[in-house]
Amino acid sequence: MNSSDNQGLVRVAVPVPLRRPFDYLCPHPLPAPGCRVEVPFGPQTLVALVVEHPAQSALPVEKLKPIRRILDQQPVLGTDILALMQWGANYYQYPLGEVLAHALPVLVRKGEPAAYRELEFWFVTARGQTQDINELKRAPKQQQALALLRQGPQTPSALRQEDVQSAALNALEKKGYLERRSLEPTHATDWAERLECHGALHLSTEQALAVSAVTTQSDSFNAFLLEGITGSGKTEVYLSILEPLLRAGKQALVMVPEIGLTPQTIQRFKRRFNVPVVAMHSGMNDRERLDAWLACRDGGAAILIGTRSTIFTPFQHLGIIIIDEEHDASFKQQDGFRYHARDLAVMRAHRAGIPILLGSATPSLESLHNARGGKYHHLRLTRRPGNANLARQVILDIKNTRLQAGLSPQLEQLMAEHLAAGNQVMLFLNRRGYASALLCHQCGWSAACERCDAWYTWHHASHRLHCHHCDSIRPLPRTCPECGSHELIGSGVGTEQLEQLLASRFPHYPVVRIDSDSTSRKGELEEHLAGIKSGHYKILIGTQILAKGHHFPDVTLVGLIDVDGALFSADFRAAERLAQLYTQVAGRAGRASKPGLVVLQSHHPEHALLQDLTQNGYDHFADTALKERRLLGLPPYSHQALFKAEATGQNEVHDFLQRLADTLRLARLPQLQVIGPLSGMMERKAGRYRLQLLVQTPTRSALARLLEWGIAEQEAWPESKRVRWVVDVDPIDLG
Ligand code: ADP
Ligand code: ZN
Ligand code: ZN
Repeated sequence: MNSSDNQGLVRVAVPVPLRRPFDYLCPHPLPAPGCRVEVPFGPQTLVALVVEHPAQSALPVEKLKPIRRILDQQPVLGTDILALMQWGANYYQYPLGEVLAHALPVLVRKGEPAAYRELEFWFVTARGQTQDINELKRAPKQQQALALLRQGPQTPSALRQEDVQSAALNALEKKGYLERRSLEPTHATDWAERLECHGALHLSTEQALAVSAVTTQSDSFNAFLLEGITGSGKTEVYLSILEPLLRAGKQALVMVPEIGLTPQTIQRFKRRFNVPVVAMHSGMNDRERLDAWLACRDGGAAILIGTRSTIFTPFQHLGIIIIDEEHDASFKQQDGFRYHARDLAVMRAHRAGIPILLGSATPSLESLHNARGGKYHHLRLTRRPGNANLARQVILDIKNTRLQAGLSPQLEQLMAEHLAAGNQVMLFLNRRGYASALLCHQCGWSAACERCDAWYTWHHASHRLHCHHCDSIRPLPRTCPECGSHELIGSGVGTEQLEQLLASRFPHYPVVRIDSDSTSRKGELEEHLAGIKSGHYKILIGTQILAKGHHFPDVTLVGLIDVDGALFSADFRAAERLAQLYTQVAGRAGRASKPGLVVLQSHHPEHALLQDLTQNGYDHFADTALKERRLLGLPPYSHQALFKAEATGQNEVHDFLQRLADTLRLARLPQLQVIGPLSGMMERKAGRYRLQLLVQTPTRSALARLLEWGIAEQEAWPESKRVRWVVDVDPIDLG
């Protein structure tokens, strides 16, 4: 059905969880794709984004509604980003409107003008310039403010930082010496001409080879995997690669894991080039994010450093994408729009015809597979600059050993030696709280969450039980509710308990604990890290937060308290995760000239994985693991999607997934596997029943077609109305 003469059709993405396009009538000239419009949607008015101008609609023209208002004369983002979002919506089977809602800055999503904030500045008037400043000596605050502003206009907040208060400014304004004016900040795009390069190091041969491999092929799409052991100088390689690109006026997107986005990281890029570097992270408010986004889009920013969501940032002239710690799980969004930023980044670089560099000491098996298959160029850094020694590694057999808070006497002895020598010691334990369960020594009762199939974690400091799955909290019971006994004990040591023990064992060595409980306050993590760097803390205890990215040159002993759980996990990725964690943790020891020692406590010292890791290293482990995955037909040799459904009733969930399984099996794809419905790690969470269905095919394209078909089929079923379901394409967590 064609639209009438003076009106055309626009297809828009609306931020609602529906998987179909929405068409509206719109007066000519039609707003270009990428412009925002306001549309009526049921009783509401929503901000939508124009994605195309369809020739016709599936609906008859009488059923189409007109848009309410055009918000932009110019698109807020380019067709490259629109296409990337559309690709992402298809691939991850997520409604386009919600993808857009996720990818746009909040203020843009809300319909605010996509423009920089108007900033107010204080200026000195002509009178204020000529006035004899000594006449203000009775009002020293005003005198100081006028002197400062004579050097140039400033914003009120910048003045506050110089300790100039508004009372003084207002007084000067009354005297006619100052005035306030708005000024749009200029975002000069000619930073390339002013680029300076500070503090570049003389590269090692390996580093130089890696740099030239990328720089000589930087005019087209090429993917590079930079596999470099911790401390081998990967960041130095990134910086050297950036220099010629920035000089040519090209911008760079640098993505880092959530935990790696520290002021130090940003400083390192800022200091090198003297070009505008912007960051995007959760600590920024909506306004600051929009400004950073605009600076990238309009070319004012040379480098953007940020976490996974920066993959959708538009750039004027993007020249390269760098992903540091590419194996890190935080690049995959684990709820809502479950995209993998690394995979989208490769797609984006491919479409833009630019290089992408993935760096890690412990690359994901997916990326290693791509490197070995020739899709990625494989670059390696096998040495540390200045020949800093690699740590010695031992597995400590703790069978039949008396452990205290998980710690063996042997490890305690080693700690005493390293501490006495003036060094720092780091202990790693991936369980927070005091104990992972509270149980009665008399009758065996243990405190279980009523809403989950899980035990409560015992938090000693707060005297509470906390369910880490549904967040419910209750007071610590004094006696056993079953038998009345007072003998309530903990099982499964957590970081809090280890901290308590060490504080009593080594009273002269300050202990710091780094986990999500001890770092939840803003700035707390930075405080702790600063205390470690300054050498105040001698004993460092932490969960995996501590394992990532931080350089602690004075740590000479690293202990892994308990990793045995990962050896027998049902998730086939557990071994890879343990190997990455172990290698990263081990890489924290002995960075400078001090020799390091890594001690892994285990009840299974003979386990092949542990032996392989400590004796042959990550690369060898990866070889073995890839062979195993190939034999079993697991990713990266196949592709998976995980349907997860939940409801208050068990039957509803089962019936829905069973029907979905039966339907998908009908597709009769070669080597299709449909596994389930099965319960994951926890069948009941926060009072709801949860089941899942795993789908696996040999190729990505077959999986994509199957999902699209299956998801369309279920829309008509009464079963789907009774459950909440999601699909996770390329899941990295099968729990
Ligand atoms: P990675 O990113 O691989 O962990 P970094 O780039 O942070 O490694 O480098 C680790 C340390 O080695 C840093 O202190 C860095 O300044 C130093 N470094 C890196 N490259 C060189 C080099 N070519 N010569 C001397 N020191 C270097
Ligand atoms: Zn009891
Ligand atoms: Zn719970």
